[in-house]
Amino acid sequence: MFMRKQKRIVNIGGVKIGGDNPVAIQSMCNTDTRDVKATVNQIHELENAGCEIIRVAVPDMVAAKAVADIKKQIHIPLVVDIHFDYRLALECMKNGADKVRINPGNIGDRDRVKQVVEMAKEREIPIRIGVNGGSLERELLQKYGGVTADALVESAMGHVAILDELNFNNVVVSIKISDVPKMLCAYRKFNEISDIPLHIGVTESGTLKGGTVKSAVGIGALLAEGIGDTMRVSLTANPVEEIYAAYDIQKVLGMRKTGAEIVSCPTCGRTQLDLISIANEVEKRAANIDKPIKIAVMGCAVNGPGEAREADIGIAGGKGEGLIFKKGEIIKKVPQDSLVDELMKEIETL
Ligand code: SF4
Repeated sequence: MFMRKQKRIVNIGGVKIGGDNPVAIQSMCNTDTRDVKATVNQIHELENAGCEIIRVAVPDMVAAKAVADIKKQIHIPLVVDIHFDYRLALECMKNGADKVRINPGNIGDRDRVKQVVEMAKEREIPIRIGVNGGSLERELLQKYGGVTADALVESAMGHVAILDELNFNNVVVSIKISDVPKMLCAYRKFNEISDIPLHIGVTESGTLKGGTVKSAVGIGALLAEGIGDTMRVSLTANPVEEIYAAYDIQKVLGMRKTGAEIVSCPTCGRTQLDLISIANEVEKRAANIDKPIKIAVMGCAVNGPGEAREADIGIAGGKGEGLIFKKGEIIKKVPQDSLVDELMKEIETL
């Protein structure tokens, strides 16, 4: 791992990012924000999955007013996502929003920007500047001949400068683009020149499988270099999947010691039971485990327990039966149809 560059600390409704704080895991609701009940239900589901900060889209004044009701019923900080309209930002802040995602350069009139900044200062609400490859300023596209990492960074710095002029530095920046190498380059460049905490992610990354891979590569590479203070895995899927994927990425890098980590062998000609179904079942049943535990699912008794010695507990398949082992030591032999049940019972005792 690279050295982590110290970032200024930003407090998002009680969740601190920057400094030595953990990289906070975010998602975004895909409900209509005006439908308070559906939005609150989805946020509760996301909270249960471990979401630490939630964002909602605020396209109009009805949605901005709904923020007050939503806020009362949830337990994690609420970020409002606003395009252009400063009045929506003001209304959301009055209604308890914990962070506002708005680009000051898109608000227009300086007086409007000032009104947003004044209220954000007064209420200690951070602003996230979200630069996106799809909506870069025309001048920058011309200057750089298209969407480049430098163009993205210059766009972000332009928005930052507007807030700087108003002595507002309670800021988070994101630079999103679906091209992973370009995204990496842009975040690295921004990280070099600023101590502003970064919200990282690969935008429009795709469906559950493709998007998870793309995000794991992009976000994972940045995290491994010590870049990133909050993160979102954007998926065309139930947002709960974004939370699971985010924790999985952090767990792979050893940044979160929570929940179960499954290690399983790829199977080979020595496998004598349906290990693929068994591994999937173990993964499903272990999803709700809170304690940090490594579970191995191995295809054969010859190599399984030894190869998975690092695991706290595991199973190794035989013909119609399997072994349960702890730290590589075999503790019992059980028939295949009760293998997963027995494993889960043993896990409970750990
Ligand atoms: S653990 Fe056994 S079954 Fe699995 S890949 Fe290794 S040798 Fe093959």
